[in-house]
Order: sequence, then C-alpha cells, then structure tokens
Amino acid sequence: MDARSALQAATSTTAAPHSPCPIRRTSDCQRMLVARGLTKEYLSGSQPLTVLRDVTFDVPAGAFVSIVGPSGSGKTTLLGLLAGLDTPSRGTVSLDGVDFGVLDEDRRAKLRGEKVGFVFQSFQLIPTLTALENVQVPLELAGRVNVREAASRARDLLGRVGLGDRVHHFPQQLSGGEQQRVALARAFVNDPRILFADEPTGNLDGATGERIVELLQELNRERGCTIVLVTHDASLAARTQRTIRLRDGVIVEDIRHDQSPA
Ligand code: ADP
Ligand code: MG
Repeated sequence: MDARSALQAATSTTAAPHSPCPIRRTSDCQRMLVARGLTKEYLSGSQPLTVLRDVTFDVPAGAFVSIVGPSGSGKTTLLGLLAGLDTPSRGTVSLDGVDFGVLDEDRRAKLRGEKVGFVFQSFQLIPTLTALENVQVPLELAGRVNVREAASRARDLLGRVGLGDRVHHFPQQLSGGEQQRVALARAFVNDPRILFADEPTGNLDGATGERIVELLQELNRERGCTIVLVTHDASLAARTQRTIRLRDGVIVEDIRHDQSPA
C-alpha cells in the first residue's frame, strides 16, 4: 500500500466497521449525541410559537433509539436539530463530541457529510437523477471512492432495499414506497456513524417495511451505527432499544426496552 492509500485507509470513516461500545453501562459509553435544553420557536404572524421546549437527553454510541409522539408534537423538528440541519432557538447539540453551535454552515455540512445519514420524511430525492445516481451522489461528494466503485456500492444497496430492477428509474417513475427505499439506500451509502430516519417505514407495506427494519438492525449491530428514528409504528418502536415520547414539544416519556446501552 502506498503512503496515500495508507493515509486514506487510516482516516476514512468507511475503512472498517465502527466498533460498537463494548461496555453496557450508559455512563461508560461514548456519547454520540448530547442534546441540552433544546428549544425551537417559530414566528406565527407576530406571535412566537414554541414547538420544542427544553429537550435534554443523551444517546450513547451504538444505540438504536426511536422517537414517537402525535402528529405536530415536534418529532421532525427535533430530528433536524439533532442532525445539524437546523439551528435551535436555545440549547445545544453535540454530535460525536463536536458542538454544532460553534460551527458555521460549511463546517456543519462537512460534519454531516462525514458522519450523518438522513432519511427525510418527504424523501428529498433529486428529480433529474435516476435512483442509482441519487444514491451515488453522496459517495462521490465524499470523494472516498472512484465513480465505478460508487456505482457498484449504490447498485448493491438498491438491491438490498429491493430495488435492483429499478436503478435507472427517475423518482417520478417510482411509487412513494420505492422513493422512500431509494432515500434509505442514499442515507446508508456513506456508512454513517449515525443515521437519522423520519418515518422510514411510513409508506411501505408490511413485508417491505420488515426488510427495511432488518436492514436498520443490521446496520446498527454489525456496523455499530447509532440510529435515531421517528416512527408512528408502535411495533417498530418496541424493536428499538429505547423510546422517547414527545408531546407538544416536550419529552413526556423515555423508556428502555432492554438492558441496552441506550
Ligand atoms: P411532527 O414531525 O411531530 O409531526 P413537526 O416537527 O413537523 O411535527 O412540527 C411541529 C410543529 O411545528 C407543528 O405544529 C408545525 O406546524 C410547526 N412547524 C414546523 N415547521 C415550522 C416552520 N418552518 N414554521 C412554522 N411552524 C413550523
Ligand atoms: Mg414529522
């Protein structure tokens, strides 16, 4: 291996599986996410509307956490703040030890590109690119692999979400559930340290949803990827390690489903 390849291998976040925290006590595990006093206000006319209020919690590395709550309770807003896509009115978020609040937009984007996968509730696929190209884009932007490898990895992931025969379709030629699976493959493609997913099984039938849940569990167990997902599906929430319930922008319940590190 030449010096350049060695340097790339040593610094690449995709070089090896992330080792999940081997110690099962929260206090001993590295904290992947730290949210402190998160408050988000919007202006509704001239009146401030508080959609998240003083939300505080930690997520250790390697955890699999679900966020549940009624429509309008602030789940999507919270996910956006945790992933550094949006900024809080008050409070702080640290991701893997880095406080988003001290970073400008460019550095936040860089940190997201290196560590974060995000599945939007509305998919946010690029309409002028095929499924394959949509999945390839983040890999090419990260610049860690050449175009051929990027295409091969993207094709493999699309196969794993059941879209091996749709790789050349454009988003508008795909059903909602198929677009959702492209969005999932795109979020996985950079082997993120943390994956945020907003209702990732919301548009899928039972069998397809099950396949996606298994993929998420595999990513969590085998790659040590921390996962934070929003769901309406109580049976999916029960399969995660911990469930945080929001109501009117406040955490009203935070339960562990097993002796997990979450
Ligand atoms: P959930 O995902 O739980 O359904 P959201 O986080 O999308 O809830 O929204 C929480 C509340 O914040 C809703 O009442 C919504 O109307 C409001 N909201 C979300 N985004 C904005 C915005 N950009 N401007 C004003 N209000 C917003
Ligand atoms: Mg939402």
